[in-house]
Amino acid sequence: MQNPRRGASSAPANTGGGNFVRSHYFSLKPGEKRIIRFLTDYEPEGDKGGLLLLKQHFNVPTIEAPSDYTGDKWPQRASAVCRRDPNLTDQFDSCIICDEIVPVHSDVRKAADRFWAVAAVRVQEWEDNRLVGVRDAKRTVVTKDAQGNEKETEELDLVVLNFSMNNFFGRLSAFYGLYGTLLDRDYQVERKGEGLKTEYEFAPLNPITLGDGRIFDLREADLMARYLPRATEVGYAAASDEYLFPIIEQQYDDRHYGRFFDSRLRSAITPAESEASEPVVTPAPAVANTPDEEAQIAALQERLRPAGETPPAPPGGLRDLG
Ligand SMILES: [Zn+2]
Repeated sequence: MQNPRRGASSAPANTGGGNFVRSHYFSLKPGEKRIIRFLTDYEPEGDKGGLLLLKQHFNVPTIEAPSDYTGDKWPQRASAVCRRDPNLTDQFDSCIICDEIVPVHSDVRKAADRFWAVAAVRVQEWEDNRLVGVRDAKRTVVTKDAQGNEKETEELDLVVLNFSMNNFFGRLSAFYGLYGTLLDRDYQVERKGEGLKTEYEFAPLNPITLGDGRIFDLREADLMARYLPRATEVGYAAASDEYLFPIIEQQYDDRHYGRFFDSRLRSAITPAESEASEPVVTPAPAVANTPDEEAQIAALQERLRPAGETPPAPPGGLRDLG
């Protein structure tokens, strides 16, 4: 298997400057299922897009809340992208979690591989017990204007996927092998089990045919632009990178490390930021892939991918309901 691209090598430099980007992490309760449309393909197109891989720490004990923190939910544990990740060596030469926290906390494990992607949540529409189409889920967000007036607006329900290969993304390898992409159809994802026994199962839906006869395949930049408007300028794959890089950076920048782990970096946080940013909810932990599992995934994919052939589209079609 051609490995998904190793991480955010072209991620923006860690300036600690930019605005905090709001992000919604995808999570399911045990037994829950949802329909999503991947906006990140399994593998990159050229050197752009594809799942992003970085090393990540979980359940790391946090330092005390900043003195100006007025909330009552300061997390006792938090996650972070490891600053010793190979992609970040030009920005950092140490990681306080690896170097100072792991050695003295027996319950904090070494950094593990985690993959990143973005997806849109979708909703099925039924008529007379028959599935007729799928539309985009929306969420209501409250924003403040310059005068501080709150305003409710609707936006597409885009979610960040931050999971391991072995119980989540690896399950998509066979579908990627069959269809040559994850972007040409919706998937139902269902969570089974809890804690270390958590597993995710995927079921592909039939492709959607648009009014003009085209398949709703997000490798088409004009179709991806519905979710990631930059796609028309930079292409569908780079648009995924552009969406994810700032969100991933927020897991390793000085603000994150200063807020939760390293009191020496506290000066990087302005009071407003320590109030504004919600602690990240970490999906259930899972063990990394073993080399055996990697080999299995690779073998499975080799078997399933027809040589030089475009997989035929399954019969039937769902309508795009917007
Ligand atoms: Zn580390």
